[in-house]
Amino acid sequence: LVSRENHPARSTVTVRGVPIGPDTVTLIAGPCAVETPEQTLEAAKMAKAAGATLLRGGAYKPRTSPYAFQGLGEHGLRILAEVREETGLPIVTEVVDPHDVELVASYADMLQVGTRNAQNFSLLQALGEAGKPVLLKRGMTATIEEWLMAAEYIAQRGNLNIVLCERGIRTYERATRNTLDISAVPVAQRLSHLPVVIDPSHSGGRRDLVLPLARAAIAVGADGLLVDVHPRPEEALCDGPQALVHEDLPELAAILRDFPPLL
Ligand code: PEP
Repeated sequence: LVSRENHPARSTVTVRGVPIGPDTVTLIAGPCAVETPEQTLEAAKMAKAAGATLLRGGAYKPRTSPYAFQGLGEHGLRILAEVREETGLPIVTEVVDPHDVELVASYADMLQVGTRNAQNFSLLQALGEAGKPVLLKRGMTATIEEWLMAAEYIAQRGNLNIVLCERGIRTYERATRNTLDISAVPVAQRLSHLPVVIDPSHSGGRRDLVLPLARAAIAVGADGLLVDVHPRPEEALCDGPQALVHEDLPELAAILRDFPPLL
C-alpha cells in the first residue's frame, strides 16, 4: 500500500488543511515537550515566526530514563488545544500507548509515533483506525525496509495519511546523539509514495547542528522539517540542548525561503 510500485505519483498528506508533500517544504516546529501554557504559547509563536504551519509538542514523552519528565499527559493535550486556538497552528503530538490513541486523536491533528515505538505493531494498527494523519518516525535501529513495513501496518488498517520522518539512526559515532541518514530521504521517496520529512533536532541532539542539517535536508529533497524550539532551553524539562532559540529563527526562516522545493 505504501509502495511506489502501485502508486507512482508521490502523495501529499493534508493536516487540517496544511499540505505535506512534494510541492512544498513544510515546517513543523515547537517545543520538545509541553511544560506550561506560557512556554507552549511562546514556543508556538517562535515556530510561527520561523514559518511553521504546524505545531509540534509532546504531552506523552517516551524517555530513556523512567525518572525523567514523562510529560503532562491529557493536561498537556489541553494546553496544545488552547495554543492551537490562539495561534491557528494545527497540532502534531506523540502517542505512546495504543490505549491512548482515541484520547490523543480527540485533541491532535496529527499523531506522532516516536522512534522507540516505531515497531510497536499494536500501536501502529490502532493508528490505522484513528482517522487522523500519522507522522511515523524511523526506529533508531530500523532499516528503511522495516520503516516502510511499519507504515504498511498503519496503511493496512485503512489509513494512508502517513508522513515518514527520518530522525537519525544509532551508529558507532558518539559525537552526535544519532547519525542523520540523509540518504534515507531519496531512498524512501523512490520506494514509497509517502512524504518524507527530517528531524534535525533529535538526530544531532545539538543546537549548533540543527540549521546545517536542516539545510542538508531541504537540499536532498525532504518534504518538511520537524524542529524543536524553546524560549528558555536552559530551563527545558526535555532535550533543551537541541532546541533553537529566538536568535536562530531568522536563519531557519531564510533556509526555508532560500531553498525552493525540488519539483
Ligand atoms: C520527539 O520528536 O519528541 C521525540 C521524542 O523524537 P524521537 O522519537 O525521534 O526520539
